[in-house]
Amino acid sequence: MSATAEQTTPTEPAPPVFSLQLNQDQKDIREWVHGFAEGVVRPAAHEWDEREETPWPVIREAAKIGLYSYEALAQFYGDESGLTLPIVNEELFWGDAGIGMAIMGTSLAVAAIFGQGTGEQIGEWIPRCFGTVEEPQVAAFCSSEPDAGSDVSAIRTSARYDEAKDEWVLNGQKAWATNGGIAGVHVIIASVDRELGARGHAAFVVPPGTKGLEQGAKAKKHGLRASHTADVHLDDCRVPGSCLLGGKEKLDERLARAREGTGGRSQAALQTFEATRPSVGAQALGIARAAYEFALDYAREREQFGRKIIENQAIAFALADMKLEIDAARLLVWRASWMGRNGVPFQNAEGSMSKLKAGEVALWASERAMHILGGNGYTREYPVERWHRDAKIYTIFEGTSEIQRLVISRAISGVQIR
Ligand SMILES: Cc1cc2nc3c(=O)[nH]c(=O)nc-3n(C[C@H](O)[C@H](O)[C@H](O)COP(=O)(O)OP(=O)(O)OC[C@H]3O[C@@H](n4cnc5c(N)ncnc54)[C@H](O)[C@@H]3O)c2cc1C
Repeated sequence: MSATAEQTTPTEPAPPVFSLQLNQDQKDIREWVHGFAEGVVRPAAHEWDEREETPWPVIREAAKIGLYSYEALAQFYGDESGLTLPIVNEELFWGDAGIGMAIMGTSLAVAAIFGQGTGEQIGEWIPRCFGTVEEPQVAAFCSSEPDAGSDVSAIRTSARYDEAKDEWVLNGQKAWATNGGIAGVHVIIASVDRELGARGHAAFVVPPGTKGLEQGAKAKKHGLRASHTADVHLDDCRVPGSCLLGGKEKLDERLARAREGTGGRSQAALQTFEATRPSVGAQALGIARAAYEFALDYAREREQFGRKIIENQAIAFALADMKLEIDAARLLVWRASWMGRNGVPFQNAEGSMSKLKAGEVALWASERAMHILGGNGYTREYPVERWHRDAKIYTIFEGTSEIQRLVISRAISGVQIR
């Protein structure tokens, strides 16, 4: 019996146990996703990176084997240890981050619906985010705007309630939305009361084919090029009252509390980001591990000055540091994921810590890997330069590294650091 368990009084529920020992289910899922990443994703990675298009054939393959489905996501999330979701993300993104994001981008919208929707909304909209096996769909989560990236409180997209018709009318422009415009279901963060900043925000589902929602410019990107990123325009886009996540009564209560100054910290976009950060960290880990493994194999083979380059401490120590940092980042990711799943409060912004560390490790390790490959590392004949391009986004989206440091420093100090 552990010390913690001995201290538990009979009336208290047992505290959740954190263990690094994977059970058979977790191992089987890891092997299954790795097999898909190795056999299907990796061979397709270069082509879709060059085409800069959504890899629908790969998404269809993932749907066919049940990997891209709400049932699979529910199973991954259902693991009480919280470890299955980061394991799946790491393996898939080890295969390729662009294709990985084309498959997993939907989960950000799913997280928003799951975190903020009523039971009925969850049941209705989450399956529709994925479409069917025959005709899979992707979903988009649209928070960022041209003038509201890190500063989520500056969102200008407005939501006005038309009481006579019981409809919400959305107007504004979203920027950088993964799957924006090509998605079936879009989740839109909009301001219901601008004076309340982020506390006046609410999340809305826009059903497939709704008039008034149009794709804007598609971004041509440095990395993650198999994942579609675009602006989304909302022009008198009307959705039924039932598309407000959480419902109107809950929103009205929340707004009233915020106006009285007694409101909690419930903020539509920020809640979603906090819940998804460990998974995003796990994606970065997948890239870091891919780069590390490739560089290790290369260093064992490549000869200069009559010996393998790994025999030089400069190379071997770099690889040792890469392995060390990747494992350290994984521990932070798993801890945060376990805490999130078990309702253990993030008192020191552990979610942000995990994403910050994993993102920076991925960028650093992929750059080291490129260096170990020398000239080959810099060419598109080898995948390492792609991994480095892909890794960079992990210090930018879902909160830049500076924003993660802001969240952590505020959490540890209680001071409103700027
Ligand atoms: C490929 C891609 C996919 C994306 N997918 C989505 C998506 O699906 N949905 C979505 O809503 N958004 C998405 N985004 C948007 C992304 O979340 C934002 O780009 C990110 O939050 C940063 O916002 P910004 O680009 O406006 O940068 P800015 O906020 O303008 O930041 C610019 C720089 O200033 C720094 N900075 C800003 N404020 C501070 C501060 N207070 N202290 C210190 N430094 C600061 C930042 O760290 C950064 O270095 C995506 C972006 C990309 C590139």
